[in-house]
Parts: sequence; C-alpha cells; structure tokens
Amino acid sequence: MSSTKGAEVARSGTRQGAALTVRADQIADDEGVASGDERTLEFENIVRRQLELLGEDPQREGLQRTPHRVARAMSFLTNGYQQNVADVVGEGVFAERHENMVMVRDIELYSLCEHHLLPFFGKAHIAYIPNGKIVGLSKLPRIVDMFARRLQVQERLTGEIADAIQSVLAPHGVGVVVEAYHLCMMMRGVEKQNSKTITSALVGVFRDDGRTRDEFLRLAHGSGPGR
Ligand code: ZN
Repeated sequence: MSSTKGAEVARSGTRQGAALTVRADQIADDEGVASGDERTLEFENIVRRQLELLGEDPQREGLQRTPHRVARAMSFLTNGYQQNVADVVGEGVFAERHENMVMVRDIELYSLCEHHLLPFFGKAHIAYIPNGKIVGLSKLPRIVDMFARRLQVQERLTGEIADAIQSVLAPHGVGVVVEAYHLCMMMRGVEKQNSKTITSALVGVFRDDGRTRDEFLRLAHGSGPGR
C-alpha cells in the first residue's frame, strides 16, 4: 500500500503490526502463567474434549498444553468484550478547528467470525470530518482492535467502528471501509481463494454528500481495484 494522498494520512499499519507481534509472543510464552481460575480450567477441559472428539489423543506430547494455549489465545482474541470506547479513547480527544477530512488507512485488523470461530483479517480505513474535536490518531487502531477482538461479522464490525467514532467526536461525518479475507470461506473452498469482502459504513456527510463520499472512497481504495 503506497498511498500518501489526502491531507492527513497516518501510516498506522506498521506500528500496529509491531504491537501485535509483542502480544502474540506473550501468547506463545505460556510457561508459568497462572491458569487457576475456574473459567479457564473449564475452557481447557472443553478444548481437551474437542481434541478427543476430533479423534486425537490429548495426552500426546504436542497436545498436552494445547488446551491451555487455546484458552489463553481465545481469551486474548476476545478481550474486546472487557473494553469500552471511553476506556480506549481515554484522554485522547482534543479541541481543534481543523475541518478537513482526517483519514487513517491500512489499519491492520484481525477478528473471529462468529459463525465458524475462524479468523478473518484485513484492513480498515477510517475517515472523519471534525466538528470542533479530533482524536489522537493512535486511538483509531485501538477502537478497531476493541471491536475486532470479539466474535464478529464484518458488516457489524464496520458499523460499530463508525458508530463509536461518531459517539466520541460528534463529527460532521464518519466513513469506514473494511476489506478482509475470511478463512472460513478460503479454507473450506466456499469461495475463490482470493476473494475479499469489502464493507463500508457511512455516517453524516459521508452518506449525504456525494463529493465527500467520493473523496473518501477514492482514498480508501487507493490505487487498488476499488471503485
Ligand atoms: Zn465464518
């Protein structure tokens, strides 16, 4: 992705990727982590039973700690349930007279489809037109993560991101485009391997004003195969 068009383009993708790497390491490094609480143990038992039902031997070496790892990973991948928009945005809202479009594109996104509990992943592009308030640019990827780390469908995820920004900033409008690959489609061969699902949510002037909408969609799709 090479677009640097637009007045305010922040390349959050790289930073976001780095942060995810660190946390992924924490998942892998599961030695010595207390797993004592009852819910975790129950979760582990269920995963162990799933392994049996798959015809596996949960006691073989490679699988012995798998229930523990799965419980930890699923807890991390759904920790968005424990967050709300106010926590995530924190003190990151500022008064500002800027009234041009603010856009952050190529925000990495990893979520779990609620129909198959399989990942879908891709990118989110977010823009808004301020109405007296702006939000720290790093907060937008955190809003994406908060909703992505829940069981989701891509359509709802897209709308929730837009609604959250609308509620925090009350801007003139918000536009969100999410483009994602769904492993439940790709791995099961339901769709062609490279098919990408694109969803958008448009609020305020992004919905009502054709020029704003066109500018946003052009920036969101960059030089790629958009429309
Ligand atoms: Zn699915």
